Amino acid sequence: MNKYIFITGGVCSSLGKGVAASSLGALLEGRGFNVRMVKCDPYINVDAGTMSPYQHGEVYVTDDGAETDLDLGNYARFTSGHLSRVNSITTGQVYDSVIRKEREGRYLGRCVQVIPHITDEIKARILAAAREDADTDVVIIEIGGTVGDIESIPFLEAARQLIHESGKINALSVHLTLIPEVSGGELKTKPTQHSVKAMQEQGIQPDVLICRAPVMLDETTRRKIALFTNMESGAVFTSYNVDTTIYEIPLVFFDQKLDQVVLKKLGVESRHANLKPWYSMMESFQSRKGKVRIGIVGKYMDLHDSYKSVYEALFHAGLACAVEVDLVKIDSSRLEETDHIDAVLKRGTAEVSGVDGILVPGGFGQRGINGMVKAAAWARTNKIPYFGICLGMQIMVIDWSRNVLGWEDADSTEFNQDTKHPVISLLETQVNVKDYGGTMRLGGSESVLEPETRVFSAYGDKVISERHRHRYEFSNKYRGEMTESGLRLTAFTPDGSLVECVEWPDHPWGLGVQFHPEFKSKPTAAAPLFRDFIAAVRDKKQPAD
Ligand code: GLN
Repeated sequence: MNKYIFITGGVCSSLGKGVAASSLGALLEGRGFNVRMVKCDPYINVDAGTMSPYQHGEVYVTDDGAETDLDLGNYARFTSGHLSRVNSITTGQVYDSVIRKEREGRYLGRCVQVIPHITDEIKARILAAAREDADTDVVIIEIGGTVGDIESIPFLEAARQLIHESGKINALSVHLTLIPEVSGGELKTKPTQHSVKAMQEQGIQPDVLICRAPVMLDETTRRKIALFTNMESGAVFTSYNVDTTIYEIPLVFFDQKLDQVVLKKLGVESRHANLKPWYSMMESFQSRKGKVRIGIVGKYMDLHDSYKSVYEALFHAGLACAVEVDLVKIDSSRLEETDHIDAVLKRGTAEVSGVDGILVPGGFGQRGINGMVKAAAWARTNKIPYFGICLGMQIMVIDWSRNVLGWEDADSTEFNQDTKHPVISLLETQVNVKDYGGTMRLGGSESVLEPETRVFSAYGDKVISERHRHRYEFSNKYRGEMTESGLRLTAFTPDGSLVECVEWPDHPWGLGVQFHPEFKSKPTAAAPLFRDFIAAVRDKKQPAD
């Protein structure tokens, strides 16, 4: 029988529920259990694919092409359980399928209601995720939002029923709250008491409490919290602010024996813990020397979550290359306005520091495109390492066409449908697509890498699989002129029909890929292209003697 752990949050959002859930998953995996992570999102969108990155942060893409919440990215970075579309449950999906069943007459004339029909659908989806892999031991289900939100109620009710039906020994409630500090450094427990009360009103008594606090809570405070929230003593933990990295959180919880308490409550015999990868990751963190500054030239710069996996992958690459990576976030529309791009990117301005490498991440729509092209041209001509991801690769092709081949109007048809040089154009499969949701080229697929290229040397393999999320592609009719003028086309789909990677000739490291390698990067195993990009930046900055 599977064991279930429900993770809820209280007091306010952004307490790190996803990181707490993932860290617990990492600890249980470290003890040899097979863990699967599930996210329940109370929003009415069917998936995150139609939401602006400004609204909800990045869209995380799974191998099977689901466009999900960025928390799945956290799960992928901390745990190794397989993630697919069943791991992301939204109110939109739940209502969509209940309404479809109602239209098909499958409720046999009954009045269709939130309880039991919506809650049953939620439970069925959680159980389906649990059954996806036969060897799953523990399913960790994170419920988005904060207890008390109207939207979360059906999910909490479904959790209550599942806990009741499986029995306390098989299902656990872990609640994350905030212990704020008020003037004079005093820590306040009252919001936590209220938050647990709100859970109790939903019929759930949390079994384990994780308190987000500025510092480790002392024994007296933890006892007081346990007493007033009806918790067993020893079941109150602290997620204190670490000044290192979020990837230290599994070790922070391990030191407090969170995993042991959870396993005991679930009636599971503990096993030997192997956390070696996490300890060596922390050693790499401590032994980094020197800094490199990476200019991320994109559109959605004001919200860190918009490019979450890209930023995390750069950090992982820094661990692998023993160097600290500073992120310099540059709104590409600002580069459009400047006539002094060299000064801005090399030496920096009051707002933007100078950079050692440029990364252009994925994006949609016309705004800021010419600023990205300028940044690419600057990196190409000044021999500054450049990494283009999806849109960033298309930008490389546009720069090459305009500035090397001299086709001034060259563009993607996403931005200019009338260009005489549509060097990036709509994928053939997209021509008749009308719906926006879930209709791009999505998910994992194979690329074949050409020998003696940078992409091949990064992966060390001829055939790789990475994930996609795009509608436009390199226009095949220009392959001849591009390669004759020196641009290297270095990876293709197995049937040869789509270009997956381009590289600049005679350049320290200038490479763009149509796929998104950031989704598979982990702190314990950096994505190969991110690793090699940062190594190139580091070596250019600190040439080996
Ligand atoms: N807008 C481009 C396309 O659809 C790039 C997409 C992306 O960067 N994810 O092809």
